[in-house]
Amino acid sequence: MTSLQDFLKTRLAERRAQQLYRSHKTLTAAPGPAAVVDGHELVTFSSNDYLGLATHPQVITAQQRGAELGAGATASHLVNGHFEIHEQLKNKITEITGREAALLFGSGYMANMGVINALVGRGDVVVQDKLNHASLIDGGRISGAQSLRFAHNDLDGLEIQLKRARGKNSGNILLAVDGVYSMDGDTAPLAQMAALCARYDAWLMVDEAHGFGVMGSDAYPSAGSVAAAGLDQDSAPIVMGTLGKAAGNGGAFVAGSQALIDYLAQFARTYIYTTGMPPAVAAGCLRALELMQQEPLAETLQQRIAYFRRNAAAKGLPLESSTSAIQPLVLGCEKIVLNVAGQLQKSGYLVGAIRPPTVPAGTARLRITLSAAHSEAQIDGLLNALAAALRTSEVLV
Ligand SMILES: *Cc1c(COP(=O)(O)O)cnc(C)c1O
Repeated sequence: MTSLQDFLKTRLAERRAQQLYRSHKTLTAAPGPAAVVDGHELVTFSSNDYLGLATHPQVITAQQRGAELGAGATASHLVNGHFEIHEQLKNKITEITGREAALLFGSGYMANMGVINALVGRGDVVVQDKLNHASLIDGGRISGAQSLRFAHNDLDGLEIQLKRARGKNSGNILLAVDGVYSMDGDTAPLAQMAALCARYDAWLMVDEAHGFGVMGSDAYPSAGSVAAAGLDQDSAPIVMGTLGKAAGNGGAFVAGSQALIDYLAQFARTYIYTTGMPPAVAAGCLRALELMQQEPLAETLQQRIAYFRRNAAAKGLPLESSTSAIQPLVLGCEKIVLNVAGQLQKSGYLVGAIRPPTVPAGTARLRITLSAAHSEAQIDGLLNALAAALRTSEVLV
């Protein structure tokens, strides 16, 4: 037996000793990809605001006007918390994603938990990539379905698990993957995965947290990695997208067939038993999604990504294969990552220092994220500071 206070203090001391203790930085927002920390203005390369929409003046105005509808939804969507502005946002989402219908959730975490738990249960199987986001893993856990995992992006490993799942029971199989991996920035081989799902009668669910707004097809340029892989509603029937990343706001959606959405509204507990999205948030999101359609934001972002990669490679920085807005530098050791991130902060740049358990042991990394709002000069500045910090830490010679 341990007292609560002793238990908490011991566990926290262990975390600190492992260099894994996390703390909040208190930021003051600044215009553009910038923030003020401890009185110093920093250029942020750590946010998921990939299109610069979080501080877009038109989004802020729309959100302020939205607040005139009431500060909060006052009830769940199914009781009396669903307004006209929510309907307009859902319609905009179906337009951008090319899906029949959509449903709004309070966050991506809740959407993933709710969808998986609603679709599978005891006697079913959830197949997951080992690097899937925590919310997909947790959704699988609470569903009661058996979880089977495969090595990251390994199609052979995936097929082995699908065969296993098909062989042993007559239940349903859900394959859940990130479209773009949040800590690696690489994309899932979705076309091949969809083909395997068709062969083994499995349902494909794609988490577009980092694909929505960032990539797409000619017909659906902002829809995400599913559209970029050429998959329609039949081959990728369950799409989850967040509104807190490229849309710069908060909340999430699921898009798919009318039947899927009708079903989730009846059975997804994280949709039913929670307060609806504040109408002001819906209004801000709607304006952000309109801007995604009207402005060449994703194109600008792609240019910045290419510029960063070209110049980072010229400096000999250890890039990964990512072509998304997420550009990690895997350094391995927690201490070096913290040290380099600290030096960058002194030079005026904020980057994420990502350590286990968010990433596997031995793969601690700097998570650099790019935005359409970054200028080339800001990227040059980051790369110079980065090269200097990596030399000081003897990662670069
Ligand atoms: C951020 C994220 C989520 C959770 O979305 P929130 O809206 O922040 O709760 C889910 N999946 C992935 C891959 C994410 O990166």
